[in-house]
Amino acid sequence: MKKKIALLCLMSSVAPVMAAETVNIYSYRQDFLIQPILEAFTKETGIETKVVFAKKGLIERLKREGKFSPADVVLTSNFSKLIQLQDEGLIQPVHDETIEKNIPKSFRDPEGKWFALTKRVRSIYSSKDRQKGSNKIRYEDLADQKYKGKICTRSGKHPYNVGLIASMVAHHGEAKAKEWLQGVKENLARKPQGNDRAQVKAIKEGLCDLSLGNSYYLGKMLKNDKQRSWAEAVNINFPNQADRGAHINVSGVVLTKHAPNKANGVRLIQYLSSKQAQETYASVNMEYPVKEGVPVSDMVASWGKFKEDSIAISEISKHRVTALKLVDEVKFDL
Ligand code: FE
Repeated sequence: MKKKIALLCLMSSVAPVMAAETVNIYSYRQDFLIQPILEAFTKETGIETKVVFAKKGLIERLKREGKFSPADVVLTSNFSKLIQLQDEGLIQPVHDETIEKNIPKSFRDPEGKWFALTKRVRSIYSSKDRQKGSNKIRYEDLADQKYKGKICTRSGKHPYNVGLIASMVAHHGEAKAKEWLQGVKENLARKPQGNDRAQVKAIKEGLCDLSLGNSYYLGKMLKNDKQRSWAEAVNINFPNQADRGAHINVSGVVLTKHAPNKANGVRLIQYLSSKQAQETYASVNMEYPVKEGVPVSDMVASWGKFKEDSIAISEISKHRVTALKLVDEVKFDL
C-alpha cells in the first residue's frame, strides 16, 4: 500500500513536467528574426514554442484545419494578411491591458482583433548620381511627368504597395488616387517585377532613378556583401515630410479563433510587444518598434528622424480592396 502511494506521488510530481506549457505559432515572418525572440520568451515564461514557418499558404492551412488547428497565433509580415485573417473570421479578439499599454491605439484593431508589432517606412529610394536625395519628395510627385521612365517598383498588388495605395485613397479619395496611380504607371521604367531590393539594384544599373521600398531593406543590403553596392548607389528618402508624413506599413500578430492554448497565446503577444522583444525586432531586422521609448538600431538612427503619417492602420485597411481594384483598373502590373 505504502509503495503504491509513493508511486502515485512520484507520478503526480512528474506529470506537470510532461505536460509542458506550449504555444503554437504559424509564422509568415522569417526564422532568423523570430527564433531569438521566441528563445527569450521561453526562457522568461517556461512556455515552449512550436513554429511553422512559411512564405505562403498559412491562412489557407488555418482555414482548412478549422477548429482542429493547432495554431494559437499567426505572425504576419504585413497589414494585408492581418486584415485577411480578420475578414475570413479566423481570429478572436484579445483585450489585455499590458498589450494595450505597449501598442499605441493607431497600431491595433479597435476591437482587439489584430496588433501591429513593428513599423517600417514605405520610402522612396533615389539614385545618388542622378537625383538629389531629398525628404521634400512626396508620393504624389511619383505621378509627375518629370519622372517619366524613371521609376521602378514591385507589383502593385504586393501588400506593401497595396498599403500605400490604400493610404492614398484614404487621404485623397478613390478618383484622385486612381489618377495618381495611372500617373505613376505611366512613369514606370519597366513592368513591375521583383522585390523591393531588385528595384534598388535596377537604380544602381541605371535602369531607373527612383523606387519604392521598405526602409529596413537598406540595412539588409548594407549588411549583405553582394548587395552593398546597390544600397550605396541610393539615398533613402522619407516622403511627405512637409505635410502628412511618410506612409508606415506594419508586421503584426493575431490570436486564432480556436487557439488551443489561448492563455499562452496572449502571453506571447504580451511578450512580443514588450521592450525586450521590440528591441530585438529593431536590432535584428532594422525595423521601428511600435512600443514608444524603445530605441532603434544605430544604423536605422543614422537614416535620420522623420514624421510618420499618423493615420490609423485600421483606417487604411478599409481601403485595401479599393486599392487592389485600382491596380487592376489602371493595369498597373501589365
Ligand atoms: Fe519585407
